[in-house]
Amino acid sequence: MSKKILVWFRNDLRLHDNEMLVEAIAKSDSILPVYILDRRSFGETKYGTLKTGNIRAQFILESVLGLRNALKQIGGNLLIAEGNPEDIIPQLVQEYEITEVYHHREVAREETHISTLVENALWKLRINLKHFIGHTLYNKEDLPFPIKDIPDAFNQFKKKIERDSIIKPCFAAPDRINVAEVIDWGTLSSLEDLNLLPQQKDQRADFEFTGGEAEGLVHLQKVILAMQQAATTKNLILVSKLSAWLAMGSLSPRKVYWEIKKMESVPNTKAMFNHILLGLLWRDYFRFMFKKYGNTFFSPDGFGSQGLVDVANEQENFNKWRNAQTGFAVVDAVMTELNQTGFISNIARQTAALYLINNLEVSWVLGAAYFEEKLIDYNPASNWGNWANVAGVGNDQKSKSVFDLDKNIKNLDPKGNYSITWAS
Ligand SMILES: Cc1cc2nc3c(=O)[nH]c(=O)nc-3n(C[C@H](O)[C@H](O)[C@H](O)COP(=O)(O)OP(=O)(O)OC[C@H]3O[C@@H](n4cnc5c(N)ncnc54)[C@H](O)[C@@H]3O)c2cc1C
Repeated sequence: MSKKILVWFRNDLRLHDNEMLVEAIAKSDSILPVYILDRRSFGETKYGTLKTGNIRAQFILESVLGLRNALKQIGGNLLIAEGNPEDIIPQLVQEYEITEVYHHREVAREETHISTLVENALWKLRINLKHFIGHTLYNKEDLPFPIKDIPDAFNQFKKKIERDSIIKPCFAAPDRINVAEVIDWGTLSSLEDLNLLPQQKDQRADFEFTGGEAEGLVHLQKVILAMQQAATTKNLILVSKLSAWLAMGSLSPRKVYWEIKKMESVPNTKAMFNHILLGLLWRDYFRFMFKKYGNTFFSPDGFGSQGLVDVANEQENFNKWRNAQTGFAVVDAVMTELNQTGFISNIARQTAALYLINNLEVSWVLGAAYFEEKLIDYNPASNWGNWANVAGVGNDQKSKSVFDLDKNIKNLDPKGNYSITWAS
């Protein structure tokens, strides 16, 4: 019997640096690349927010179609289905006589729960679900400590990992692929099918995110060009806007790292290199912390207690905040930018979060749930991990004292014109 591997794509929508795909091609006669649009990811949360708002939904759809195009260019295609992976994957296994299923391991509870359901369903068919690791800069296996011993303090984590671990080279993108014979490769739902409306462009938005690996790679080259230019202009770019493609897995963090590292010999680029690398380390850190502590990050008390919550006015204050009607100009400008574009800088995110938690005394989980709906670059570990940290209920209790709303506002809006420029 020929060996056929089903490659289940989730938040890893790329050909480059994709060990799962490389191994599937090497170990099979043909593969069946599959993406499943799971409606549960578009439902409502218990906080009355959407799990995925229109801006990220649009980006996801573009990213999936981007992957299909990329696979077609190397002689393949992507089977697109809609429903529950735990129902669809076993059906496909039987229909196409699949011998093994590959996927990338996730860390947050809903995603890992779905993996478990798929694994259990496949188990009944005596088919193995093989897990790969491909979302982080550093591989779990290469860490100088087991997950349970990863330092809780970010600075210690950074110091140890940089001293004792390695960043692996990228896997090359395949240039040829042999896929199973499929009569109907399926079509992808539209935004309207998901009951979502397209976002109208705001004039103040000077950047457009388009999903897909090709677009992510082009954007990465623009970041590198900006680094080159900054070497002479001394104009540091501290907002790379790489996060949306990283979140969809259309760019791998290793690809970003090795590309920006090529700039090492260019004078004056060190500060930007260090800035992006620091961000990638924070990203890894939260992912590993999720692996270590799991669901604790989703609980209002986290690893401590937020302190004051104005229970009586919580919903009203939350609504003012999310509708950009707090009356506090910078916060309202930041929330308008988030609502219109799906993206705000790190300092703007901290500002909005600090104001919600400390000034409006709203539970941080409502803010995190709202960012989950709105952010184009949402990923569970980065979002809930950062929110827990800002609320002072993260696992690194030392980080609590780092945040200062007044200082943030001075940095974010030194000229008092943020609501007009959105430039941070
Ligand atoms: C309340 C709050 C919620 C957040 N939610 C998310 C989220 O859902 N998804 C997300 O990707 N980031 C999140 N962040 C982290 C950070 O704000 C964004 O990653 C960053 O602003 C993206 O912009 P950039 O690509 O220009 O980042 P750069 O500053 O250019 O950094 C390069 C990359 O490093 C990573 N990164 C940078 N800072 C952080 C950080 N503090 N934590 C984790 N990763 C980081 C991102 O992948 C980013 O693309 C959140 C931060 C806060 C304070």
